[in-house]
Amino acid sequence: MITNPFEGDNFHDQCGVFGVFGHDDAAALTALGLHALQHRGQEAAGMVSYDGHHFHSRRGLGHVADNFSSEEAIAQLAGAVVIGHNRYSTAGATVDRNTQPLFADFEFGGFAIGHNGNLTNAVTLRRELVKRGSLFQSTTDTEVIIHLIATSSYKPVIDRFIDALKQVEGAYSLVAMTQDSLIGVRDPLGVRPLVLGELDSAYILASETCALDIIGAGFIRDIEAGEMVVISTEGVLSLHPFPPRQARHCIFEYIYFARPDSVADGRSVYETRKRIGAELARESPVDADMVIPVPDSGVPGAIGYAQQAGVPFELGIIRNHYVGRTFIEPSDQIRHLGVKLKHNANRAHVEGKRVILVDDSIVRGITSVKIVEMMRHAGAREVHMRIASPPTTNPCYYGVDTPERSELMAAKMDVEAMREEIGVDTLAFISMDGLYRAMGEQSRNAENPQHCDACFSGDYPIPLTDQEDGTHAAQLSFLTEVAGKR
Ligand code: AMP
Repeated sequence: MITNPFEGDNFHDQCGVFGVFGHDDAAALTALGLHALQHRGQEAAGMVSYDGHHFHSRRGLGHVADNFSSEEAIAQLAGAVVIGHNRYSTAGATVDRNTQPLFADFEFGGFAIGHNGNLTNAVTLRRELVKRGSLFQSTTDTEVIIHLIATSSYKPVIDRFIDALKQVEGAYSLVAMTQDSLIGVRDPLGVRPLVLGELDSAYILASETCALDIIGAGFIRDIEAGEMVVISTEGVLSLHPFPPRQARHCIFEYIYFARPDSVADGRSVYETRKRIGAELARESPVDADMVIPVPDSGVPGAIGYAQQAGVPFELGIIRNHYVGRTFIEPSDQIRHLGVKLKHNANRAHVEGKRVILVDDSIVRGITSVKIVEMMRHAGAREVHMRIASPPTTNPCYYGVDTPERSELMAAKMDVEAMREEIGVDTLAFISMDGLYRAMGEQSRNAENPQHCDACFSGDYPIPLTDQEDGTHAAQLSFLTEVAGKR
């Protein structure tokens, strides 16, 4: 039983968003788009539609297919304008009322919003709003935007929205809708991805291009950092409401988060991952009989490594696809169990062999320890590990669900200590400059980095206002305070 209604909630969202303007099959297209974005969030899915007279909404915990595969579900979302959202929250209870898109009825009409990212001053803003009388319905950071719109002194809805966004800090790719428009926005640094596409005469917004592909939509362009697009029967209006800044797209999208068949901000995710693997092979070669990916996220990096090193690529670990991503299981106990459920060594192939395991990242280190144990158990003679990212030493506060610093293996020990703990013969990570080279840069510009790489560098490009208040403890005690008042 949950005694504190906010228990287990927090402000991290790592999600997928999708929107359609002007298509008779808008809800069915959105269901497909969200399905292609399922990797960005598996805990809940939701859609809001507008049929010219009324808004309709449907949200539910679980996968897109659990909530939107029936004709009845699609029929409920009448209208040619729809937005949809996949939610991924961190450990703890996932509650219905946090499922997006959020919807509010304002004096100017209905407004719905779906958010990928994380606002870094949401607690601070929320505290002020509550003092001024706002009544919050959920504990998502996104809801502060709704209240800031409600309390804005501007009249037109777009001006109110911009006014609200000028007060929030953090990372956000948003899809929103009013009675006559579909709106897409990327934060001033463009941390999370968002693309614009077209299908017949309809416009599409999506977190990634793989969601355009699934419905056969054409790619028009990426939404720019700091850009708002307002799509209506007049066409696409592009606004740049924030002072211009150099974009800092999240580098971890390319390493792990985005789907390999997506193209984000001009780069193929798959090609980038392969290039990271090739750089890794150049930087940290080792004599071995085969390169083995840790499936599935290590596969493109391992292909790049194997091609560059001239070492055979082999599937030495087989993954069971019917188990969810281990990382999202809530307790350590289940995480341990999850890894065993998910992977199995291809014993006949690795016995007596010198193997190079390639994975995309080490977070807590749990996966690596288990996988290596499995390889040794299967009789591998030597086990070398190569990681297609620099050591993850810092949590992400911009929408990727990473644990606290104290749980990050690389924050607790150096590479040699990690090697010992994981139990490999050698361990190497790609260097920061190697990663940037794979991204098509000469090196990382230390003065003015080309990407957000805070998880590796600790260089946070957006203020962490709420963190200065004392991380989750402050958030939760504040939320309890709010709960008490409701
Ligand atoms: P760990 O056992 O904590 O070291 O998990 C590391 C693995 O989790 C990596 O190999 C990635 O494939 C995956 N991973 C990394 N970051 C995330 C994330 N934010 N969400 C889900 N999975 C992740």
